[in-house]
Amino acid sequence: MNDIKEKTDFIREIIRQDLQNKKNNGRIHTRFPPEPNGYLHIGHAKSICLNFGLAEEFSGICNLRFDDTNPTKEESEYVQSIKKDIKWLGFDWGQNEYYASDYFEKLYEFAVLLIKKGKAYVCDLSTEEIRQYRGTLTAPGRESPYRNRSIKENLTLFKEMRDGKYPDGSKVLRAKIDMSSPNLNMRDPVMYRILHKIHHRTGNNWCIYPTYDWTHGQSDSIENITHSICTLEFEDHRPLYDWFLDQLEIYHPRQIEFARLNLTYTVMSKRMLLELVEKKYVNGWDDPRMPTISGMKRRGYSPQAIRNFCQQIGVSKADSTVDIAFLEHIIREELNKKAARVMGVLNPLRVVIDNYPDDQEEELTAINNPEDPSAGTRKIPFSKILYIEQEDFMENPPDKFYRLSPGREVRLRYAYFIKCVDAVKNKDGSILELHCIYDPLTKGGDAPDGRKVKATLHWVSDRHSIPAEVRLYDKLFTKENPARVEDGDDFKENFNENSLQIVKNCKLEPSLMRAKPGNMYQFERLGYFCVDSGTTNEKLVFNRTVTLKDEWAKIRKT
Ligand code: ATP
Ligand code: MG
Repeated sequence: MNDIKEKTDFIREIIRQDLQNKKNNGRIHTRFPPEPNGYLHIGHAKSICLNFGLAEEFSGICNLRFDDTNPTKEESEYVQSIKKDIKWLGFDWGQNEYYASDYFEKLYEFAVLLIKKGKAYVCDLSTEEIRQYRGTLTAPGRESPYRNRSIKENLTLFKEMRDGKYPDGSKVLRAKIDMSSPNLNMRDPVMYRILHKIHHRTGNNWCIYPTYDWTHGQSDSIENITHSICTLEFEDHRPLYDWFLDQLEIYHPRQIEFARLNLTYTVMSKRMLLELVEKKYVNGWDDPRMPTISGMKRRGYSPQAIRNFCQQIGVSKADSTVDIAFLEHIIREELNKKAARVMGVLNPLRVVIDNYPDDQEEELTAINNPEDPSAGTRKIPFSKILYIEQEDFMENPPDKFYRLSPGREVRLRYAYFIKCVDAVKNKDGSILELHCIYDPLTKGGDAPDGRKVKATLHWVSDRHSIPAEVRLYDKLFTKENPARVEDGDDFKENFNENSLQIVKNCKLEPSLMRAKPGNMYQFERLGYFCVDSGTTNEKLVFNRTVTLKDEWAKIRKT
């Protein structure tokens, strides 16, 4: 991919070293292993860019593997959405699509092998008892009374578990390691549990399911993964994965941990995102406020910009939180170069140009993108009745307000100077419409006598305008780290009730008649907007992708 340059970070260092040492005969094989229990978020994008990116850079392969070991939470809807989002991001796994569930039989055989080696046993303790027996970080665990069952008995019981003889939760298969290990993961972890549940791929073939810990390392080994890259919380699981592979005497991938992505003012956990969806805090997984890939797509973020973001944040060993202003900064930078400028008025205030002939209209020339001369110009219609933004007029302006007010002259972008001569009011005191006069000599926006104005306003012609609904978004949560809550509190209490504002009666310039879902624009002075995927011929809907104000520039300076 052309946006990938020579990069360096601790993972690439390791890979270069391994290549130099001819490890794995110079083979590089990574994988992205999502659990299909929700839609992908921007944190996953970091992992996707890393794993698929490494395969591209080092002429390797990256597998897509669904870690589908938990039949209660997984659905094929998620499998489809994950595939769609990865493709949209610009990555391709080709033929290399795998499912941990394809290894269920193999994993069962591996488990039987461990039992035969005396390294696994069937345990009848309840989940709660297992927890109690496990001990704590400071206290060693206690051995299960079932720990010394004979190999023969274990083989029989495990077979019977598979055959459906026992109810859910009545027995588990555990590895026999060390109940006094300082690493809790090594204290006889559970390998299989009984669950009489239908699986999205294996149907009712199985009523015992392998745990993630028992599945993950072996799946990597089966697929001959060379570099198994995962997030830091799995560092403590690595000794366990190594132990399993050692006991089974099978190929060892190299596991490398990196810090997960956290972003301010949002959450990065599928469980929490699912809750927002199910409890209708947001309108689905692709709500433009969501940190999901599908939400960001609908919001108007491009795959290129998301990849660029992932590249810029880099990978490291230390946990950190990225300011959401930085993500928006990257989005804005790209749109500044690419998005066509247009004019649209969100909260229209009617302006009558008293000295402009009733039936006259004319076309003025507007620049499509000052950052890109090749984008050319377009014509915008001007006539006697216009709209400007309500907030661009004040009857009694304070000192620093330079926009329109009675007696004041301002420029209408690409058009004329206008001066306000009267403000007509409704009974309640609000402004009904303004009356202005224009100076025909200022056509195009400059006065031949050199006089200056202090403000330039955007506007649209009433007669030519098209109506639209515009959705303005703010941060999803009111707190920088909404997931960090005191005991008993709920992250949803930090939900920002003002994160969505729907503006219904906007007036846009007529060139937007041809706007199609996904098209991006800069509405002058208001921000970058995209046409929503739910737009119809009857109703044009825009999402504000990002405002014009670069908060990151401010943060960077301080
Ligand atoms: P969540 O907590 O959101 O459910 P998860 O880690 O359980 O995330 P998986 O489907 O298991 O989700 O993740 C697939 C891959 O994406 C894993 O390799 C995981 O390490 C990686 N990943 C998940 N979240 C992040 C993140 N915030 N930053 C970087 N990588 C992530
Ligand atoms: Mg997970």
